[in-house]
Parts: sequence; structure tokens; C-alpha cells
Amino acid sequence: MTVRVRIAPSPTGNLHIGTARTAVFNWLFARRHGGKFIVRIEDTDLERSRPEYTENILEGLRWLGLNWDEGPFFQSQRLHMYTAAVEQLLEKELAYRCYTTAEELEALREAQKAKGEAPRYDNRHRHLTPEQRAAFEAEGRSYVIRFKIEDEREIIWDDLVRGAMSWRGSDLGGDMVIARASEAGVGQPLYNFVVVVDDIDMEISHVIRGEDHIANTAKQILLYEALGAKTPEFAHTPLILNMDGRKLSKRDGVTSISDFKQLGFTSEGLVNYMTLLGWSAPDSTQEIFTLETAAKEFSFERVNKAGAKFDWAKLDWLNSQYIHGMAVDKLTDLLIPYWQEAGYKFESGRQRPWLEQLVNLISASLTRLKDAVEQSQIFFTETVEFSEEASKQLQQEGSAAALQGIIAALEQQPQISADSAQEIIKQVVKGQNVKKGLVMRSLRAALTGDVHGPDLIQSWLLLHQIGLDQPRLTRAIALSN
Ligand code: GLU
Repeated sequence: MTVRVRIAPSPTGNLHIGTARTAVFNWLFARRHGGKFIVRIEDTDLERSRPEYTENILEGLRWLGLNWDEGPFFQSQRLHMYTAAVEQLLEKELAYRCYTTAEELEALREAQKAKGEAPRYDNRHRHLTPEQRAAFEAEGRSYVIRFKIEDEREIIWDDLVRGAMSWRGSDLGGDMVIARASEAGVGQPLYNFVVVVDDIDMEISHVIRGEDHIANTAKQILLYEALGAKTPEFAHTPLILNMDGRKLSKRDGVTSISDFKQLGFTSEGLVNYMTLLGWSAPDSTQEIFTLETAAKEFSFERVNKAGAKFDWAKLDWLNSQYIHGMAVDKLTDLLIPYWQEAGYKFESGRQRPWLEQLVNLISASLTRLKDAVEQSQIFFTETVEFSEEASKQLQQEGSAAALQGIIAALEQQPQISADSAQEIIKQVVKGQNVKKGLVMRSLRAALTGDVHGPDLIQSWLLLHQIGLDQPRLTRAIALSN
């Protein structure tokens, strides 16, 4: 069998982490079996669908490296197919027109509630006579199309993640609406129906989606049968939970892939983390995966039934692994937009070698790309603010004189290297008979405004190249007096 899977997002919001994780599992399964991964945009909800969300979704999938083989297909361009399928079910009398009004449905619900029953449609228009139908039409009532669901039907499937599943027809809420009324005949087809028509047409072999769709699967299996098609395999993936064990939601703040990008996660780190959200490799100690390496090992046997807790610390750790292992050139490309967004002024072309040196200096201490904004601030601003500790350092006896000595040396030699910078410090230590620690700490305080930070000599060289070291030394001396 050729494996054909799909991700079918609705463009009613940005690409959600849950959808993206489902896309990852689909992609891994397709690649593992040499199959096809298809993208289908489920934009039948015209009121809530927006082109900018479609853009965000496709952009997010591309950014994560989830390249697809077919599509994107748009349901809004395939309405004729759904209409034809509705007609087919009407003809076979597997579906019918239901004229029940909203008020009647409401009254039914109230009555059921009063009796302590679960709300369901009572199939009252299943057997209308042509006369009754004509009477409703004459009243000007609109209708929906309902698909017949027999209460006593048992629906079973062998879920690739959850094992044997079984539902009763009576649990599905009565005959289900598959299309809404519209002026132009059959009208707007609904989610559960179009999904099945599309999955049949696209020859989807495995439907891999979140476990929140389990009840839909039971309904959809009946639709496959009614449309005379073979049902695909189903795999329901576990939900993503927050650290409190509740379903990850908007209230947890960040949920869309573009938010994660904005926060400074690399696509490699995020995608690696998503592979582990509900799946583990046969060697469960192995945690670092690219999509390609995970695809070699992926199987549903190792996908958990239980929800997957979203662990920020682990995501951060994985992300830092990718940042630390990244070539300077690539990392520089990734950091430039964050610096630009922070409003830092630089010329990315002319200053490229300097930017790469800066990246070299800070990369080991980055967890998220965005950390670079704070960690490199002193290289993009004219002056620095002194922390309390730095101010104290500059008040130390001998501090101002040491800085004077450095300025004097710099006036002698306008070009410095790592070696000559070390040499200057040595000379000051010797000439003024002070401790090397004092000189180093004072220099750091003067140049960076702080007493901790990345390699001092490298920081100095970077500041020297853009002419910021001398003015900062001078200002620090002024402040220390
Ligand atoms: N549009 C549905 C969703 O975004 C697709 C579900 C499915 O994969 O069938 O949840």
C-alpha cells in the first residue's frame, strides 16, 4: 500500500503548536514509509477563514522543514465535489432534508435537559412524506441535510495509537448535519463530511490527527461506508498539555509557531522538541533528532496514549544545543533580524566580519536566539550604564590610573590585536605596580558597565573596531573621580 497522509489545518488562526506537532508525525510517517505528505487547507468556514492565516500556516510548515508533496489544496475550490457527494447520499436515501427550526431544536434540547438526558436530535424528519416536505417548503422553512445514523450501530476500528476503539451509533447525537441550508440548493457542506469526501478523493491511507477528533472518526467511518469507500487507518495522537496537566490553550500564552519563532527558537530545536511530544525513539535516551533522523525510527508503537506535557526547560535545552552547534555564518544570519527588530543600527554587509566575531563571542551563552539582543546590547549602543558593582569597581584605588594607562597605550598604537591587548594590560600592571585583577575588572567595568560578561579581550577588540573603547574609558575615568 502506498502511504498517503495529510495535514488539514483550518485557516482560522495562526499555525498552532498542536497542528504543527500533528504535521510532524504525519511527515515522519510518510517519510518512514516512502509515502506522500499532502497539505489541505480546510477553509469551508468562510466567516472565520482568513488568507493571512493560510499564509501563516504554510509559512510555518515551510520554516519547520515540513515540505509537502502535494497541495496545498483548498476546500473552498472543491465545493462542487461535496455537492455531488451530498446528492449521491440523498439519492441513496442515506441522507434527507430536515426542516426542523432553530426554535424547535432549542425546545427539544430543553426537554431533554429537563429529563436529564444528553442532547441529541430525535430524527423527527427522517421519514417525511412528499406532502409534509412540500408544506414545510411552502412555509418558507430552510433545511439542512442530515445523514442517517442508526442508534444500534456499533462502530469499531483498530487505532494505531489507542488500539481497539468502539462507539455506538446512539452516542453520536442522532442523525448528523452534513450540509447547511443555502439559497442555491444543497448549501454549505460541513466539516465531518468534506473531510471524508476529500480523504477518499486524495486516497489518504492513514488519517493521523489529534485525539480531540475521536468522536468525529466514529461519524466519519459511517460516511466512508455510505459513500462506498474503504476506510483508512486511523491514528489519534495525544493532546499537548501544559505543565499543570491541562490542555495547552491560548491562556498559556504562546501557542502558535510564529510566536515560538519570535521568542527565539530555532526551527531545528522546535521541530526536534515536537518529535518528542508524545513519541520516543526505541533508544529512549536519544533526544537529539533532525526530521530525517527521527523519520528513520518513527512508528506509532512508540507514540503515547497519555497527553504530552509541554516542558519549556527541555525545549530551551534542545534549542541551545542547536544554537551552540551552529556554524557562525548561519547563526549570524539568524541573529540579524532580532538585532534589527531591537532597533540596533549596523550595516549587515560592511560589518559582516565584525558581526561574526560578535556571534562567536556570545553564542555559547545563548539559549534562545533572542537572548542575543540583551547580550550584545553594549556593542550597539554609544554608552553603557554602570551597574552598582561596576561603579564600585571604578571607585577602587588605582582603577582610574589603570584606565589612564590603557588610554595612553592606545594612543601609541591605534591598531590592537588579542596579543597586543594582553601586552597593554601587562605593561599597566608592571608600570603601576597593581594587581592584574584590578586592571582587568576596571577595564571590564569601563567598557561594558558590568563586572561579568563574555571574554574581556574579545569584547574589547570588538569595541575597539568601532571606536567605542576610548570614549568609554574616558567616561569611566570621569565618573570614578
Ligand atoms: N480541520 C481540522 C482541524 O484543523 C482537520 C482535522 C483532520 O485532520 O481531519 O482540526
